[in-house]
Amino acid sequence: MTAVSPEQDKKLILNAYRQLMRCSEAKADKRSKKRIRRAFEMANEAHSGMRRKSGEPYILHPIAVAKIASKEIGLGPVGIICALLHDTVEDTELTFEDIERAFDSQISSIVNGLTKISGIFDLENSIQAENFRKLILTLADDVRVILVKIADRLHNMRTLVSMPEHKQVRIASETKFLYAPLAHRLGLYAIKSELEDLSMKYTDRETYQGIAKKLAATKVERAKYVKEFVKPIKASLKNEGLHNFTIAGRPKSIYSIQNKIHKKKVEFEEVYDLFAIRIVIDCPREDEKALCWKAYSIITDHYVPNPDRLRDWVSTPKANGYESLHTTVMGPGGKWVEVQIRTSRMDEIAEKGFAAHWKYKEGEAKKEATKDGALDDWLNRIRETLTNPESDALDFIHNFKLDLYQDEIYVFTPKGELKILPQGASTLDFAFDIHTDIGAKCIGAKVNHKLVPLSHKLANGDQIEIITSKKQKPNEDWLKFTTTSKARTKIKSALKEEKRRIAGDGKEILFRKLKQLKLNPTNEFLNDLLAHYKLSDVLDLYFQVANRDLNMEEIKRLEIKSNRVVFKKNIEEHIESKKIRDTEINKKESDLLLFGDFGDKMDYTMAKCCSPIPGDDVFGFVTIGQGIKIHRKNCPNASSMIANYGYRVIKTKWSQKKKIAFLTGVRVTGLDDIGVIQKITNVISSDLKVNMRSISIDASEGIFKGHIMVFVDDTKQLDKLIKKLKKIEGILSANRFDS
Ligand code: MN
Repeated sequence: MTAVSPEQDKKLILNAYRQLMRCSEAKADKRSKKRIRRAFEMANEAHSGMRRKSGEPYILHPIAVAKIASKEIGLGPVGIICALLHDTVEDTELTFEDIERAFDSQISSIVNGLTKISGIFDLENSIQAENFRKLILTLADDVRVILVKIADRLHNMRTLVSMPEHKQVRIASETKFLYAPLAHRLGLYAIKSELEDLSMKYTDRETYQGIAKKLAATKVERAKYVKEFVKPIKASLKNEGLHNFTIAGRPKSIYSIQNKIHKKKVEFEEVYDLFAIRIVIDCPREDEKALCWKAYSIITDHYVPNPDRLRDWVSTPKANGYESLHTTVMGPGGKWVEVQIRTSRMDEIAEKGFAAHWKYKEGEAKKEATKDGALDDWLNRIRETLTNPESDALDFIHNFKLDLYQDEIYVFTPKGELKILPQGASTLDFAFDIHTDIGAKCIGAKVNHKLVPLSHKLANGDQIEIITSKKQKPNEDWLKFTTTSKARTKIKSALKEEKRRIAGDGKEILFRKLKQLKLNPTNEFLNDLLAHYKLSDVLDLYFQVANRDLNMEEIKRLEIKSNRVVFKKNIEEHIESKKIRDTEINKKESDLLLFGDFGDKMDYTMAKCCSPIPGDDVFGFVTIGQGIKIHRKNCPNASSMIANYGYRVIKTKWSQKKKIAFLTGVRVTGLDDIGVIQKITNVISSDLKVNMRSISIDASEGIFKGHIMVFVDDTKQLDKLIKKLKKIEGILSANRFDS
């Protein structure tokens, strides 16, 4: 870092401030501009002398966040002011009172919300599930809190490079696990994609750069294709009198390409839809629907559409406000091409989010906002789930994410009222969506006038009439066929209620019997009972007693033998097994990995979910009872572990001392040809002298798929092997796979 003079700092700051003013020009009147200036001066003064990790003056961060809030999320002056002030109460001498005095209670309460969140999850400490719940709960007050927080995170991700590596991974995982889904739910598609890409860049650098390189290499070719594809459509649109439109190819994000490669188990070259064509029409609101369909009709005049891939979110927008018409057509050269048709208004919502566009446009547009209730509906649903004291925070996040990534179906009540449910929802989900009591008493339903069971899966367009009975109550099985978080939360809390009632009876029975045996139910004794029966809390114990699962004779013997015995034996066994494990490790893999900043040596085992081998980017995860497990940073479970249990993650790197063979798998596909297996085994055992453990081949319709398990020293050797395999004639693909 070179030393900077105060004059240079001042210049930098002023420049950034001017840019911010320029992009908020259109939405701020004179008074608002004055207020933004005051917020800037206040923050600048408060942060003066502070610097970011990168060395630049701290105030550049709040200015950048304000710029994102304004330009990329579309927030008005209130959002901009709060973004400028977002770190002041947390990090400087300023108080809420100062802010309320300088502005008003609305601004100070949003800054208050932002401070509360940053207090529980700043960049230093990873956010826990419970904190995330609190974060979402603030949605109930003002969505702007979340929107500014997302802007804050986006800027931190864009400047993540100046953070130390272990923090990069933690922050990036949290971003992928929580912020990207949140941005998605709020309809901030552009930001969601950027967050996902940035997060992947830090958690799976190699794959990220691999795809980026390939995208760059095929750029010219793709541009040419788009040009050819678009040409006749452009001409026809103009012929039909449409002039105000743009049409262009949009590359998909690296993250979504990687997702496709992973899910469909294909190679980059086999992902056909690397880009989508987007037509954006500029027109008055009343012409929107007709013009979108007109464009659709023109496109399908030129190219044959795939009827399975038509999505009409113009007639019925998604729950997060997304509107667009999607189709996939057969383009030149026999390639499927996705086409998105929308108007500029829809495009703005898609890019900047529903929340920003409708609810928080200040002034004129606000009146119009109240018409669209989808966001409010969603917020209400979230609020309901959150304020339920029974719901478990981790469960909540799980359900929240499930809700996000599922596609939606549209179904109707008998009166024709539209309900949006996730794909796969059952009649029971629908019942709970209408009302908790209707869900709890539901015994079946009529779907399109036909009688169906509770578990019946609903389809688009179904009309559902719920049948209830006063005698009905929720049972464990119901969790098997419900998918919405609302239904699942309500069922779980009803079951817990029931269990608590039964446990109450159990407690009475247990205490009475203990009394007969002349035993005292001390905490110590109860704890021993829990340990003996391997139960986690007394509620479970009482519950088991009520269900007569516990043998009172056994309880008696236990006490007589002295309850300490049980514990001692456990500990001895544990130590014994640990000894065995230690020697095994010593024989095989000790010293291969170093932990922490000082390269400490510790015992560990390799995680089975991703089977790391030397050369992989890895981290250690402290498990309960199984020591340290080593995972790859791109393990499918990594982001959830790091985001939820960041404190259990240990920095880990390979020591390059010994060579020990690791078992790993390679998947190959190719043309089913005589001699191809011979060639594969030749490459493996003669050419590279790699030890092969097994090979299984599956062939049908002229294509074979092979799974080969080999022992390799590290990723270098594995990469070499894969490269060689790919060169064999008739081999279409070869890549690593995990168990
Ligand atoms: Mn910040």
